[in-house]
Amino acid sequence: RKLIEFKQVSKEYQIGEVRIKALDGVNFTIAEGELVVILGASGAGKSTILNILGGMDTATSGQVIIGNQDITKWSEKKRTAHRGENVGFVFQFYNLIPNLNALENVEFATEVCRDHLDAEAVLTQVGLSHRLHNFPSQLSGGEQQRVAIARALAKNPMLLLCDEPTGALDYVTGKAVLKLLQQVNRDHKTCVVLVTHNAAIAPIADKIIKVKSGGIESVTINDNKQSIE
Ligand code: ADP
Ligand code: ADP
Repeated sequence: RKLIEFKQVSKEYQIGEVRIKALDGVNFTIAEGELVVILGASGAGKSTILNILGGMDTATSGQVIIGNQDITKWSEKKRTAHRGENVGFVFQFYNLIPNLNALENVEFATEVCRDHLDAEAVLTQVGLSHRLHNFPSQLSGGEQQRVAIARALAKNPMLLLCDEPTGALDYVTGKAVLKLLQQVNRDHKTCVVLVTHNAAIAPIADKIIKVKSGGIESVTINDNKQSIE
């Protein structure tokens, strides 16, 4: 079943006299439970797609359907609620709060959330039961990203949006993070959308959406999906 649909979505930014077309008539669909990789060069429009999906930004024109609702018609207040309740975010540089330990970082994110999971349980699930009381500065890059993933998952979101989640990690650590995202997708049926410029990541996806200069270059169903061991 279809969870997300972009229909002729365009996004323009106005900087002084200059108009920048970040997205131009973008169309794609994402099914429930799918793991999608959005692939493209820097500046192609990947983050803009993710920000619109998460309700952090709005399209200039077109429709963005999530479930059976067109979120382009939503108020700022409704988009904020969507962001808080339905969507988990994972960023390249983790964005943890430096003066909170791992457990507190996860708890802080779930405070406003009605149906959240237990913070300690989720940290255990990502393999960090021994790091609950460590501060971000006391954790390796891979561990910090796992805290960030736990923080996103604790909200029990229907949608997990990841922007270059392995961009700051070495190959082996990055691979472990991708494995974790695959497990989350498989075990919780959470829809995962991962944007990256790194083509080597694409084989882990059910669907690969290639973006180029604000448009869709191709959408491929990956019949040869690689499970990370
Ligand atoms: P990607 O994530 O693929 O690197 P982005 O979605 O960040 O690409 O950017 C797409 C285009 O939109 C780029 O030309 C970028 O410079 C422009 N852009 C993105 N965000 C803004 C903004 N807030 N203001 C102006 N231009 C922006
Ligand atoms: P990685 O191979 O992921 O980069 P590191 O070599 O940075 O890992 O860290 C290895 C271990 O040392 C990790 O378990 C991490 O928690 C711990 N560690 C790293 N930096 C610190 C620090 N400043 N204080 C305490 N423990 C640390």
